[in-house]
This record gives sequence, C-alpha cells and structure tokens, in this order.
Amino acid sequence: MSKLSQAEFQEYLLKIRALAQGPFEEIQKEVEVTNVFPQEFYDLAIENDIYRCALPEEYGGYGLNELEILQVQEEFSRGPGGMRMHLHYALDLNWRILDDYGSDELKAEYMPKFQNKEVFTCFALTEASGGTGADLHTTAIKNENGDYVLNGEKTLISHTDCCEFAYVIAVTNPESMKDDRLSAFFVPLGIEGFEVVDMPHMMGCRGAGHGDLIFKDCVVDKKYLLGKEGQGLEVAMHSLSVSRAHIAASNLGMCQRMLEIALDYAADRVTFGKPIIQRQMIKFKIANMQMMTHALRCIVYDFAKSFMENPTGEYITEKAAIAKLFSIDSTRLVSDEMLEICGGIGYFEDFKFGPAERLYRDARAMWLEEGAPSVQRITIARECVNHHGEIKYVI
Ligand SMILES: Cc1cc2nc3c(=O)[nH]c(=O)nc-3n(C[C@H](O)[C@H](O)[C@H](O)COP(=O)(O)OP(=O)(O)OC[C@H]3O[C@@H](n4cnc5c(N)ncnc54)[C@H](O)[C@@H]3O)c2cc1C
Repeated sequence: MSKLSQAEFQEYLLKIRALAQGPFEEIQKEVEVTNVFPQEFYDLAIENDIYRCALPEEYGGYGLNELEILQVQEEFSRGPGGMRMHLHYALDLNWRILDDYGSDELKAEYMPKFQNKEVFTCFALTEASGGTGADLHTTAIKNENGDYVLNGEKTLISHTDCCEFAYVIAVTNPESMKDDRLSAFFVPLGIEGFEVVDMPHMMGCRGAGHGDLIFKDCVVDKKYLLGKEGQGLEVAMHSLSVSRAHIAASNLGMCQRMLEIALDYAADRVTFGKPIIQRQMIKFKIANMQMMTHALRCIVYDFAKSFMENPTGEYITEKAAIAKLFSIDSTRLVSDEMLEICGGIGYFEDFKFGPAERLYRDARAMWLEEGAPSVQRITIARECVNHHGEIKYVI
C-alpha cells in the first residue's frame, strides 16, 4: 500500500505529466543540440520525487506498487525520450538490482542514497564481441585474497555520464558451459583499471549519455559481488524481465501522446472544406491507434498485477517479453499513423501540436533497449512451449 492516498497519487500523475510536457520539453530544445542534460533537469527530477517515488518506504520512497510505478512511467514518457530513458532506469533497474541481490551491508550503505540521486548506476551486459545472455567474454577471476579481477569491455551502456556504480555481468567460471558461468557485481566507477569511453550521439533520446566500459586488471572487492557466485545470469535475466515491462509502459506513454497530437492536428487541419478528422481514412487510422494503445495498456496493467502477486511468478518472464514486443508493434503503428496524419508540417521541429518528429526518433530506441524483438520472440516461444500455451491472469 502506497503512503499516498488515491487522490494524492492521481494528483502526482498530473504533476509528472505537466513536468514532462512543460519544463522538460523546454529544457530539451537545447539538449537536442548539446546532447547533455543540464543540472536543472536532475534538480527538477529530484524536486518532483521521481528518483524517490518507486523506492520502498524504508529507503525514503513512496512505496508505490508496480502498477502505480508503471503509471508514473507512462506519464513522464510523454516527454523527451532521453529524459524518459534516464528516469525509466531511475524507477527500476537503478535500485532494484541492489535491493534484490545486494548484501545487507551494501544495501544499508547505498539503498537510501538512491532517493536523491546521491547514487546512480548503469547496467552493463552487452559486449561488442558477444551476444546478449550467456555469450559474454568479460572475465572476473578470483585472486588470492578472494577479490575479483575484471578484464574485458562492455558497450552501448546507458547513463555512463551520470553514474557512480556499474552493475556488471561477467564470467567467473569460464570452464562451465551452464548458467553458472556468470556472476554480477556492483562496481564503483573510478577504481583503478576501470575506464569509461563516451559514445557518439544517437538518432534520438538526446541527452542520455552512453559509453563503453573498459576493464584492465581491475580489482573489485569481494563485498561487491551480488547474490552468489554463478548467479549472474539469473540477476541479469530477472532484472531485465521487469525492465522490459517498463519499456512497454514507456511506449504506452509515447503512444498516448502521439495519438493526442494526431487527434489535435486532424481536428484543426481543413482540406477541401472539411477538417480531415471527418474523413473516413483518417478515422480508420485513429481507430487503429486507439486499439493498439488500449491493448498495450491492458497488457502493461496485467503484467503489473501478476508482478504484484508474485514478482518471481511463473509467467513474469513471458508476460514481460510479450509486453515489450507488443509495445514495439503498437509504437510502430501509432508513430507511422501520427506522421502520416500530421502531414508534411509534422515532419518539422516546432510543430505547434507537439513534438511529432522528436517522438518518432525517440521511440526507435525502444526496439533495442532491453533486447531486440527477436530476443523477445525467442523468450516468449520458450516459455510458451514450457507452459504448453497456457497463461494465467490475476482477475
Ligand atoms: C539506446 C540503447 C541503450 C542501450 N543501453 C544498454 C545498457 O544500458 N546496458 C546494456 O547492457 N546494453 C544496452 N544496450 C544494448 C542493447 O541491449 C542491445 O543493442 C540489444 O540487446 C541488441 O544486441 P546487439 O546490439 O548486440 O545486437 P546484435 O547482437 O548485433 O544483433 C543484431 C540483430 O540480430 C539479432 N540476433 C543476434 N543474435 C541472435 C540470435 N542468436 N538469434 C536470433 N537473432 C539474433 C538481434 O536480435 C538483432 O536484431 C543499449 C542499446 C541501445 C540502442
């Protein structure tokens, strides 16, 4: 139960929407060029409790449930994509991995520091030389003191511009061909042998910093091991499962905003003596956009209810992958229809009905974040076969 009343929570959602579509969009105009968030962005996020709201109450949070967290996520995802990427992470992986797998000692020291962004993290799985999942090459080999020596590289890592720690998944048992090859670590930035190399600008989501992580004989104290040695694949896969549903909630916020922009333009634009919203072809597009957006919301809410019942439940992985995959299809359709409905002027910046061109670019990152559609399909098919097609719902 959240410490906010239902009325207070609804007010909070409206406040976050106003922030995302007001001050955040104003700040983003410059960020599109500089690709760097000014301090003002972080300050506004702190003032509006965005880093804090998803945390359990014992660590200074609102103690929101998963459904409420995903609703907050939907609201700020209506705004600039780079800010969404940062805040989406803040609401979930940033603190959740430490909360789920950190030792009591690490949790006592760092969990309260997430509430005001005193501590921020990045999550490092992907490697240029390997695939996602168990196909990793960065090693963490135990030395004579029982500490771990990291060697290798990670790429495409978000939030390297503003983090103090990296969650790193590395090979601790190279001989094993099984799931116990990998372990997870909470690695402080700035320790010897750990370097961050910035990456170039992206297509969209401007401002969210990305980099490569390079480890050369980097000694990590054994206290930073998360969970047990050999539990790394589980840490990564469980954490990503939840995060995939958060990607779906982000896509939902974007779809809703794109639908509203298209509706406003279609009501305003008159051709051959009539607003285009009265044309059957436009109405069909609107119907398709609404259908996908509504279905996506139902899928996201269903995931949230299942997660609230049991975060490690039998259908969580499958439902999260379905949510992410369906949200890509929804976003594809809704963003294409928005672009077409908004005509030539919608392709330009400063479009008076909303940031159609930026939303279109920002949305494309969603195809890849937390695994490409093919990976979601592989996951869904595996789980579906295991369950022989059955799926359960929390009614
Ligand atoms: C904006 C952005 C932010 C990101 N942030 C992070 C982050 O913070 N941390 C992190 O660890 N990673 C991050 N990533 C990496 C992201 O998770 C990967 O890009 C994504 O999982 C795809 O992996 P890849 O880039 O290695 O693609 P590749 O492995 O090069 O794959 C290319 C295509 O082939 C498909 N493919 C590859 N192998 C197989 C296979 N065995 N079977 C079927 N299809 C296959 C892929 O699905 C993909 O469609 C980020 C990526 C982006 C774009």
